[in-house]
Amino acid sequence: MDDTTEWIEALAQQIGSVVKQSLSKAADPQASTSLAWIETALRDVLRQVGAAALGQLLSASPRTPAAELPCACGGKLQYQRIRPATVLSVFGRVTYQRAYYAGCPCGEGSAPVDERYGLQPGQVSAGLAELLTLAGVELAFEHSRRWLKGFLLFDVSENTIRHETQALGQEQAAHETRLREQSQDPTWLQDHLRTTASIPARLYGSLDAAKVRIEPRQLAEKQAATETWRDLKVGCWYEAEPVPPSRRSARQRVVTERGQLGQRAKNIRYYCDILEAKAFGHLMWATGCAAQADLTRELVFVCDGAVWIWNLIATHYPQAVQIVDWYHAADRLERLAHAAFNQTAPRERWLERTTTDLWEGRVSEVIQACTDLGAQCSEAPDAATYFTNNATRMRYDQYRAKDYLIGSGTVESSCKQIVTQRLKCSGAQWIVPGAVDTAKARAAWLSEEWNPVCMRWADLPLAI
Ligand SMILES: [Zn+2]
Repeated sequence: MDDTTEWIEALAQQIGSVVKQSLSKAADPQASTSLAWIETALRDVLRQVGAAALGQLLSASPRTPAAELPCACGGKLQYQRIRPATVLSVFGRVTYQRAYYAGCPCGEGSAPVDERYGLQPGQVSAGLAELLTLAGVELAFEHSRRWLKGFLLFDVSENTIRHETQALGQEQAAHETRLREQSQDPTWLQDHLRTTASIPARLYGSLDAAKVRIEPRQLAEKQAATETWRDLKVGCWYEAEPVPPSRRSARQRVVTERGQLGQRAKNIRYYCDILEAKAFGHLMWATGCAAQADLTRELVFVCDGAVWIWNLIATHYPQAVQIVDWYHAADRLERLAHAAFNQTAPRERWLERTTTDLWEGRVSEVIQACTDLGAQCSEAPDAATYFTNNATRMRYDQYRAKDYLIGSGTVESSCKQIVTQRLKCSGAQWIVPGAVDTAKARAAWLSEEWNPVCMRWADLPLAI
């Protein structure tokens, strides 16, 4: 009987005994065994079957390994011996035996099986790495560990989950560096102009930022006392599609009741980093080239309007339509109304009138209404300035006529999803690279970029 037959029989016996035990316990009315117990016991046996099968598969190298192999350096590697190795897989720890080569003057060694499957002995397999990252982009690393144990049935350390999640973020960063280089290469840009790939007729862009708490020791000493927050800037590219009536959100229902097309974002791609505005602009341009923002017929930016945002857009995409997010503009009126009026009835009247003016594109009336409140409310002049500065970005009547999306909910929710939900978990404090890598991994997960990133990543050795 060979090894394979032996382990298959051993596993069959193991499975048989768990099934038998479960059935007899389940049949016994006195036994307290629950279905959950049976499920978990069977799942654990199947996990062990998986580990054994994977170990066998990885050990199934030729009975007589070749005496020599070409080395990557151009020299030759000599067969040494069969050496055991262990990796952490989706089934837990897996040990396998594989041929090992060394003896090239360059000093490198090689195990062909490891190279073929991208294995690094002592580390995590590609399949498990993806699962760890899926948890790591959703939950604080300490919670990921407990959560994963419920699914995997074995323990993975918090550090391993952090490492794998951030490694995927680093892969995304490397990809963005490649995009940045090509987007500044005149030859590439020339070819890009002649692209035959389909170009979206209308593409949207949006930018926003949110604060992330950084450990003080990361910063220069003179700043250490106060500066513990950094801006994580987030951008996204997306298209719009109509939403079927039954799937409309509350906001979309309000819009359709006013006779507008109910639309939602699709094909969303996020990018993010902790960078100064100018450097972030280069990332915006690079990801924009990949999204064909420079080639689309209509490029529309919908943002909530910090000055650096409009400056970046004007620098890189002077032809783009700039729109202040409708909900921010309307919210500004609502906040002012609450500050200016104690009584409900006049407040509602004022708000109704100014919101309608804003919706109809009568920004000068809105500015006048804010100015008129100046005597009774200290916040009115600021609001008047805000509407004056953004008047050209608030022609909502024109935007509606063209069926533009006028809400920046897409990028706002990305800031919320990347920063608030993941980077601001209770007590979370980051060093800059860890925050950036985790944010980039999460941005990839939220984007329709996840599969390409995982595929690029799986092709790479997982350096630890
Ligand atoms: Zn060599």
